[in-house]
Amino acid sequence: MSNTVQFQVSPEEAKDELFLRKKIRKNLKLRDDDFIFRWKKRSIDARRKQIKINCVFDVFLEGEEVPPVIINPFLPGKLTGKKIGIIGFGPAGIFAALQALKKGIKPVIFERGKEVRARRRDLANITKNGIINPESNYCFGEGGAGTYSDGKLYTRSKKKGDVRKVLEWFVQFGASEDILIDAHPHIGTNKLPKIIQSMREEIIHNGGEVHFESKVTDILVSEGKVKGLEVNHQYLFEFDKILLATGHSARDIYELFTRNGWQLESKPFAMGVRIEHPQDLIDKIQYHGRLNDDFLPPASYRLVTQVNGRGVYSFCMCPGGIVAPCATGKEEVVTNGWSPSKRNNPFANSGIVVSISPDDFEDKDALAGLRYQKELEKKCWEAAGRNQKVPAQRLLDFIENKKSENLPVSSYHIGLTSVNLNELLPPVLADSLRKAFLDFNKKMKGFLTNEAVLHAPESRTSSPVKIPRNKDFQHPQIKGLYPCAEGSGYAGGIVSAAIDGINCVEKMMMSL
Ligand SMILES: Cc1cc2nc3c(=O)[nH]c(=O)nc-3n(C[C@H](O)[C@H](O)[C@H](O)COP(=O)(O)OP(=O)(O)OC[C@H]3O[C@@H](n4cnc5c(N)ncnc54)[C@H](O)[C@@H]3O)c2cc1C
Repeated sequence: MSNTVQFQVSPEEAKDELFLRKKIRKNLKLRDDDFIFRWKKRSIDARRKQIKINCVFDVFLEGEEVPPVIINPFLPGKLTGKKIGIIGFGPAGIFAALQALKKGIKPVIFERGKEVRARRRDLANITKNGIINPESNYCFGEGGAGTYSDGKLYTRSKKKGDVRKVLEWFVQFGASEDILIDAHPHIGTNKLPKIIQSMREEIIHNGGEVHFESKVTDILVSEGKVKGLEVNHQYLFEFDKILLATGHSARDIYELFTRNGWQLESKPFAMGVRIEHPQDLIDKIQYHGRLNDDFLPPASYRLVTQVNGRGVYSFCMCPGGIVAPCATGKEEVVTNGWSPSKRNNPFANSGIVVSISPDDFEDKDALAGLRYQKELEKKCWEAAGRNQKVPAQRLLDFIENKKSENLPVSSYHIGLTSVNLNELLPPVLADSLRKAFLDFNKKMKGFLTNEAVLHAPESRTSSPVKIPRNKDFQHPQIKGLYPCAEGSGYAGGIVSAAIDGINCVEKMMMSL
């Protein structure tokens, strides 16, 4: 049994092993130095000028067994001869496949996009030439939307499943053990593809199948039960259990449901802009003037306010990051953000989004929100000059309702087009954002500056459509079909999608 000890130290002290050892010894009143200590939790408390690191350590005294860091590793079970179909190889599909193998079930995965290396070439084609491949982009391909992301791994859905297990599996396949310790863990775009590739290799090594460039074009249903899948409009595969984990950008899947009269629901979502500041400015605000600090990571922020009863909040903040072109279709512009593991770019970006509810639309059908989202993405594409440049405006100019005469350098590689976003965004978004920015400046003095630039739109924060499921996680009209994770409205983010993938397989096990 280990002892646990916790205290606060300065950022400099937190990096000094000798200092920490002495402090632990004093805290536990140990007579000598004959002990091993290991970080258990680490977080930054930057509320006051004297920034502190909250530390929690496990301490093992002489003779005490030091347990392994990974207590719940992925271990494949013996294959039972049963199989399931999985549509989509994002975090939900990957963790579902691993969980199935753990239980001895063979996963057969269909992914419309390409494997990570080939996918990288398509991303380069977007960044260099502004050309979108509708089947291989920032949202579609091996690892899903999570592969070329910041890889932030915190979640608010801790009650839904075993977050530690998901993090441990990431570590097992190559992520740093720091993600098990840090209060706000992240992996980084440069590290994620290798980890995802290792997971895929393990899935195949243990008897799973992963088919890339295999878009599911129909779900075969007979007498209220799934029978199989049609892939690329030609091949048929038989299954009686199928996990649907296609993410929030697979609009053709919602259209497939609508065509077949299968139940869908509209759900609340959020849209807005992606803001970018110089990282130095954010560090200065959040760290009370401390700059270029070797002992603190690039600062982040989380902001939230209410404007006329509507939530406006920061989303997917990327310190030291890049604003990314995340469209999945040719005639649309979509932004999001990523950062490398060191978060060492000179910019800080974040979505600033406004809550939207189905009550906002006159149309009451399930796809009303999706149409609203699509309309804005197309409008932005047109405003940008019918290409992948992004409509942009300096923050103060946006507040003052005037087009920016010039725009600052942005991390968005393809380029910016100066527009007055007050005229481009729907009034409800523009009005809510203007008021929210004024409030954010009270919470983070200096946030409101013309050095900050808004990129539009941030439109794919979550799905505007929900695919319903009953208490067994199956679609109410289609036995054997398990709507899963972000695209079906049950997750938001890498970890919660992974957890939902695991949970769906657990539900399948009950009826297998
Ligand atoms: C740039 C960017 C940065 C992000 N940063 C973070 C972050 O830091 N932290 C975080 O938690 N989240 C982040 N996210 C969000 C996160 O990636 C998603 O929440 C998560 O990936 C959702 O997982 P999923 O498995 O439900 O769906 P997805 O990851 O969207 O995966 C769905 C997969 O299904 C495939 N597919 C779709 N239709 C079909 C079909 N018909 N046939 C076969 N395959 C199909 C797609 O190609 C895709 O690979 C980011 C997203 C983006 C785009």
